[in-house]
Amino acid sequence: MGKYARLRQRLLAELPEVKMQEALPASRDELALVHALSYIDAVATGSLSAAAQREIGFPWSPAMAERARRSVGATLQACRSALSGGWLAANLAGGTHHAYADKGSGFCVFNDFAVAARLMQSEAPGLRVAIIDLDVHQGNGTAAIFAHDPTVFTLSLHGARNFPFRKEPSDLDVELPDGCADVEYLEALERALDELERRFEPDLVLYLAGADPHEGDRLGRLKLSFDGLEARDRRVMDWAWQRRLPLAFAMGGGYGHDPEATVQVQVNTYRTALEYASHWAVMAPARGTVAGSTHWHNAAA
Ligand SMILES: [Zn+2]
Repeated sequence: MGKYARLRQRLLAELPEVKMQEALPASRDELALVHALSYIDAVATGSLSAAAQREIGFPWSPAMAERARRSVGATLQACRSALSGGWLAANLAGGTHHAYADKGSGFCVFNDFAVAARLMQSEAPGLRVAIIDLDVHQGNGTAAIFAHDPTVFTLSLHGARNFPFRKEPSDLDVELPDGCADVEYLEALERALDELERRFEPDLVLYLAGADPHEGDRLGRLKLSFDGLEARDRRVMDWAWQRRLPLAFAMGGGYGHDPEATVQVQVNTYRTALEYASHWAVMAPARGTVAGSTHWHNAAA
């Protein structure tokens, strides 16, 4: 848990160009775009069964329920920022991809990317969303929620032998062997982005920039270096930038033997994001005339 506050502290100290805003918590109606009302209310009132709490992985408290709503709210705000001309925005937490419509799992209570995709689509009908999930664990909840939805493309690159042990089919799953290092990983990412390009035309990219593929991670089982993870982030942001697609990202997992190493991976993600944000800022005055900004209106036609 300490990593969240630490990331905020380090961004304020080291990357003051990052503009911070406090987001509102997600409302019951927003959560209900994805989640069962009975589940939302059980989280709100603390009436989850013992088994349901065990599957989430941490105990219920009023603060836990509040945090779960805020973690979704920050991703909603990041998407709104990205779509309304900010192009690139992020949640300092979020990426809770193991949550299903009717239950939490693996430290995830509500599925922030799923709620965000549905809410943005309700505000811009026809919006097509690509979810690029590079957390080391499979995005099983996200895959299940969008299994029959052709307007949201789910891509998950993950460790084959890692949690969750019963995986759900995404639109594109790429399984990596234990010990997978930079070169093999980046080649797999390249092939995955090529296939995404062939199969889907997004208007918005949601990027789950998990820090847990890092070689210093306790749970990751992969061997990416700091440089490898930075190249990964750069590739995804460049892919979106080349296509003038707004991008929102969230941090997802990261369980370093040294927690500071996890935070370092995340700070590096923000440093790369700032470079791309400056590209987008240059483009901003032309907004309304460039293809990227009007595209999602066209998509509704
Ligand atoms: Zn993870």
